[in-house]
Amino acid sequence: MSMDGRGTSALDRLRARYDQEARVCPECGFEDEAGSWRVQTTGSRVYYRHLCPSCGSRSTRVLRLGGSRDDE
Ligand SMILES: [Zn+2]
Repeated sequence: MSMDGRGTSALDRLRARYDQEARVCPECGFEDEAGSWRVQTTGSRVYYRHLCPSCGSRSTRVLRLGGSRDDE
Protein backbone atom coordinates (compact mmCIF):
# COMPACT_ATOMS: atom_id res chain seq x y z
CA MET A 1 0.00 0.00 0.00
CA SER A 2 1.31 3.40 -0.90
CA MET A 3 0.80 6.60 1.02
CA ASP A 4 0.60 8.89 -1.97
CA GLY A 5 -2.55 10.09 -3.67
CA ARG A 6 -4.21 11.08 -0.45
CA GLY A 7 -7.59 12.67 -0.80
CA THR A 8 -7.78 11.94 -4.51
CA SER A 9 -11.36 11.40 -5.49
CA ALA A 10 -12.71 9.97 -8.68
CA LEU A 11 -13.93 13.44 -9.60
CA ASP A 12 -10.46 14.87 -9.19
CA ARG A 13 -9.02 12.26 -11.48
CA LEU A 14 -11.70 12.85 -14.08
CA ARG A 15 -11.10 16.55 -13.97
CA ALA A 16 -7.38 16.04 -14.43
CA ARG A 17 -8.05 13.86 -17.41
CA TYR A 18 -10.34 16.41 -19.02
CA ASP A 19 -7.79 19.11 -18.37
CA GLN A 20 -5.35 17.19 -20.50
CA GLU A 21 -7.84 16.55 -23.28
CA ALA A 22 -8.81 20.20 -23.40
CA ARG A 23 -5.34 21.18 -24.47
CA VAL A 24 -5.95 20.02 -28.02
CA CYS A 25 -9.03 21.32 -29.80
CA PRO A 26 -10.88 18.55 -31.67
CA GLU A 27 -11.98 21.05 -34.29
CA CYS A 28 -8.85 22.90 -35.29
CA GLY A 29 -6.12 21.06 -33.41
CA PHE A 30 -5.06 24.15 -31.50
CA GLU A 31 -3.13 23.27 -28.39
CA ASP A 32 -4.47 25.34 -25.55
CA GLU A 33 -1.82 24.87 -22.93
CA ALA A 34 -3.29 27.50 -20.66
CA GLY A 35 -6.83 26.35 -21.16
CA SER A 36 -8.95 24.61 -18.62
CA TRP A 37 -12.46 23.34 -18.26
CA ARG A 38 -15.05 25.48 -16.63
CA VAL A 39 -16.84 23.28 -14.19
CA GLN A 40 -20.45 23.73 -13.22
CA THR A 41 -22.15 21.41 -10.81
CA THR A 42 -25.91 21.07 -10.78
CA GLY A 43 -27.16 18.52 -8.32
CA SER A 44 -26.06 15.11 -9.52
CA ARG A 45 -24.40 16.30 -12.72
CA VAL A 46 -21.17 18.04 -13.49
CA TYR A 47 -20.81 20.07 -16.67
CA TYR A 48 -17.40 20.64 -18.18
CA ARG A 49 -17.12 23.39 -20.73
CA HIS A 50 -14.17 24.54 -22.78
CA LEU A 51 -13.91 27.31 -25.33
CA CYS A 52 -11.17 27.11 -27.93
CA PRO A 53 -9.36 30.48 -28.11
CA SER A 54 -8.39 29.81 -31.71
CA CYS A 55 -11.59 28.80 -33.49
CA GLY A 56 -14.18 29.42 -30.81
CA SER A 57 -15.35 25.83 -30.78
CA ARG A 58 -17.13 24.90 -27.60
CA SER A 59 -16.80 21.53 -25.98
CA THR A 60 -19.25 20.36 -23.37
CA ARG A 61 -19.21 17.16 -21.43
CA VAL A 62 -21.54 15.98 -18.74
CA LEU A 63 -20.68 13.71 -15.92
CA ARG A 64 -23.20 12.06 -13.70
CA LEU A 65 -22.12 11.80 -10.12
CA GLY A 66 -22.52 8.55 -8.29
CA GLY A 67 -21.95 6.51 -11.41
CA SER A 68 -18.54 5.00 -10.93
CA ARG A 69 -17.11 6.48 -7.79
CA ASP A 70 -14.35 4.52 -6.18
CA ASP A 71 -13.35 6.86 -3.39
CA GLU A 72 -13.94 6.14 0.27
ZN1 LIG B 1 -10.28 25.11 -32.05
